[in-house]
Amino acid sequence: MPQKILCNKCEKVLYDHKDLKPPAEIIKKFGGECPQCGKKLIFDPEKVVINSR
Ligand SMILES: [Zn+2]
Repeated sequence: MPQKILCNKCEKVLYDHKDLKPPAEIIKKFGGECPQCGKKLIFDPEKVVINSR
């Protein structure tokens, strides 16, 4: 089941992989902001969408 993390503002796919990773690690990888819209990425289960589609 893949893990998918989207920017909650522009819906850019930040992470889409079959391996589960802690969201904090992914946010850190992007330097704490969305590479597309520059929105600060804060891990909040209600704001960071994790789909298992
Ligand atoms: Zn964004």
